[in-house]
Amino acid sequence: MGVVMLTNWAGNYTYGAAQIHHPRTVEELQETVAGARRIRALGTRHCFNDLADGPDALVALDGLESTPEIDAQARTVTVTGGTRYGTLAQHLHPAGWAVHNLASLPHISVAGAVATGTHGSGDASRNLAGAVAALEIVGPDGALRTVRRGDEDFAGSVVALGALGVVTRVTLDIEPTYDVAQEVHVDLPWPAALEHLDEITGSADSVSLFTDWTGDTIQQVWRKSRVTPSYQQRAELFGATPADGPRHPLPGIDPVNCTAQLGEPGPWHDRLPHFRMDFTPSNGDELQSEFLVPRAHAVQALEAVRSLGDRISPLLQVTEVRTMAGDDLWLSGAQGGPRVGLHFTWRPLQREVTALLPTIEAALAPFDARPHWGKLFADEGRDLARLYPHWDDFRALVARTDPEGVFRNAYLERHVL
Ligand SMILES: Cc1cc2nc3c(=O)[nH]c(=O)nc-3n(C[C@H](O)[C@H](O)[C@H](O)COP(=O)(O)OP(=O)(O)OC[C@H]3O[C@@H](n4cnc5c(N)ncnc54)[C@H](O)[C@@H]3O)c2cc1C
Repeated sequence: MGVVMLTNWAGNYTYGAAQIHHPRTVEELQETVAGARRIRALGTRHCFNDLADGPDALVALDGLESTPEIDAQARTVTVTGGTRYGTLAQHLHPAGWAVHNLASLPHISVAGAVATGTHGSGDASRNLAGAVAALEIVGPDGALRTVRRGDEDFAGSVVALGALGVVTRVTLDIEPTYDVAQEVHVDLPWPAALEHLDEITGSADSVSLFTDWTGDTIQQVWRKSRVTPSYQQRAELFGATPADGPRHPLPGIDPVNCTAQLGEPGPWHDRLPHFRMDFTPSNGDELQSEFLVPRAHAVQALEAVRSLGDRISPLLQVTEVRTMAGDDLWLSGAQGGPRVGLHFTWRPLQREVTALLPTIEAALAPFDARPHWGKLFADEGRDLARLYPHWDDFRALVARTDPEGVFRNAYLERHVL
């Protein structure tokens, strides 16, 4: 246990909790939770807001790290909640296994990523929570329970914002390991992007479009393809041309920390994240926001944001547009059908970004845009409820599971409960 003087990864938020616990066993964790009036689980601190914080105490699972357990017959792996995706990949790949997708950074914890609906990109790829087959959770009284796919509470328990307890173990679906080749195209004309969006995002297993909303072209398109016998590098892409060398998503930045490009095949975990596992940024000079809109509204949503380009670009490092398949997890950004994510990597200008967010959210409101739970958003109207058909079910689940509000915090009271 120690006194918290801790910031999140971006350094824009200082946790207010009075204590942080680092239990070394599950039993110790159970005792800690059972003895707490209010407590919240803390992952790798990559959220950009106060979601993980609590008034009294935090508990981090970094003392519980253990070797991932692969069950080849069930095609699952079980990890402790604090395990980072990069660490998981280093165990899975040599054993001949993989997960279906990864986020842009491999340094985030499995339980923390799953709790907020973290995603990569890919028309056919569900967000990372979509791979969860079971969760082991310490409830408010310190008791351990397991929730499995198919159980009544499962769909509400996976993307759960830390509101149902501390996830000690996560079981994820796995599949045989695979290779991926990554290509970057530059200068995709905006009219072609809007007219052929479906063909572009469907042209590889995972596609990201990077733009700063200025000019007539989308600056970069990153395409990650599983390497099959029929894989071929793509020459032209609706007017965009292959990059003549490796690229960083931000123009002019050295791509040395980016995963290999130029169509060179490599293991899934060395290509699906944009950034290399052995490059470990301990903090970042950036802020992030993201809004997930139903696939059917993607073009209109892009046009709406583009009309704000001259207000957005002075605060922006880059926007990334990604796609994801739908799922049935109650608070997932992709619950109910496929979505397109409009992501903003901001310059570290919290005041200016916070002032602009309501304008962006108003422009996206007609398209039922769901904000990413872990990034900056305004929610000025406090009306997230209308975006999630299972909103009341989730609130009822929280009320039943945690009647005394042990896992409540200011964020949950402001936006959810
Ligand atoms: C550089 C960077 C890149 C990113 N890239 C992506 C991306 O590609 N795609 C994307 O969707 N998001 C992305 N994010 C956002 C990030 O994935 C989410 O914020 C994610 O929740 C971070 O996980 P964490 O472990 O750091 O969580 P934390 O910030 O530590 O916690 C997040 C939430 O998870 C809960 N939690 C953590 N551990 C547990 C546990 N054991 N049991 C129960 N609840 C728990 C916390 O209580 C809190 O509610 C990025 C963030 C950064 C900083």
